[in-house]
Amino acid sequence: MMRTREGGMDLKPMDAEQLRESAHKMVGFIADYYQTIESFSVLGQVRPEYLHQLLPDSAPNHSEPLQDVLNGDVSQLSFHFIGTRIHVLNGQFLDEIADVDTKILPGVTHWQSPNYIAYFPFYGSFAGSLGQMLSAGINIVGFSWVTSPAATELETIVTDSLAKLLKLPRQGGGVMQGTASEFVLTVQLAARDKVLKKVGKSALGKLVVYSSDQTHACIQKASQIAGIHAENCRAPKTDSSTNFDLSPRAVSDAISQDTASGRIPLFLCATVGTTSSTGVDPFASLGKIAKLIFLLVLISTKLFSYISATPEGNGMWFHVDAAYAESAYICPEYRHYIDGVEEADSFDLDPHKWFPTNFDCAVLWVKEPIYLPH
Ligand SMILES: *Cc1c(COP(=O)(O)O)cnc(C)c1O
Repeated sequence: MMRTREGGMDLKPMDAEQLRESAHKMVGFIADYYQTIESFSVLGQVRPEYLHQLLPDSAPNHSEPLQDVLNGDVSQLSFHFIGTRIHVLNGQFLDEIADVDTKILPGVTHWQSPNYIAYFPFYGSFAGSLGQMLSAGINIVGFSWVTSPAATELETIVTDSLAKLLKLPRQGGGVMQGTASEFVLTVQLAARDKVLKKVGKSALGKLVVYSSDQTHACIQKASQIAGIHAENCRAPKTDSSTNFDLSPRAVSDAISQDTASGRIPLFLCATVGTTSSTGVDPFASLGKIAKLIFLLVLISTKLFSYISATPEGNGMWFHVDAAYAESAYICPEYRHYIDGVEEADSFDLDPHKWFPTNFDCAVLWVKEPIYLPH
């Protein structure tokens, strides 16, 4: 927007030539950022609410040139201090014309810094940034095939080729969304509705979800949203004696108790590479429990209604959460860690963690995609 001579607003948006010019500046800014990233303190050096003090509390009435938003073109200006603030001669303060440099970057935690070692890796890449630039520039909308056929088809091709790299079973298919947390919720809802359709909605209070105390917090959130009662979420404790892996025994014991008291095992989540300790749950055994021992327990406790609810003999939904470490299993020497993945009804992976893929990008494969739309 530019001010017109009369002082009103000219709402003319940026045109393609201005985009070309501004994009060069933006890329220059990003390249400078990476060339100096090691000079930043990894953790933002600010206090809570710092930004409120630096930005106006209502949206501006007119736009500023991009250069001023990024780092202010101060090369042609002369300065003097007024109090602690630097005043530039066009009537503004320096901190008013250099928003990203002076206000945003100090409050950024620099995940891409080589000095960053907290939480887990979150590797972006320049190729990933360029891909996002392209996608954002074209402004792709892909919620159904017809809204952008190329988006849907590319999604399928990419998830299929990723599946090939990981040597996943050639059954079902993959989709992409923002985060693994969304996927854990998605498959839990699919599992819930699959069972409730057979046993009736009133059984919601009987459904039980199993994971370990190392499972990512997204499982709890998903259970809460799915309406699973908090007292029906089992998370057996793990310890260092088993490298913090979930014990199949603890799971089968919990299943026995639950079925004996009339509850319905719904969902088991095993993790390949837990977020806190990179533990690898023995999911080949856990998968067997989900599919087989589970049925035996049911027969012994005469829960025939539920057995007839799963005529396919599917047992409970078995999800493998590989959000963190799955990328490693593309390497042939690590692939054996996911032997037995055929047992899983679904599993997720976060390319935005250990692939050179920018945030956000998560992939889910499901054995029977038919349950997702429901
Ligand atoms: C990070 C992580 C998640 C959640 O991933 P988001 O994509 O951030 O939602 C789930 N499970 C594991 C094992 C993780 O490491």
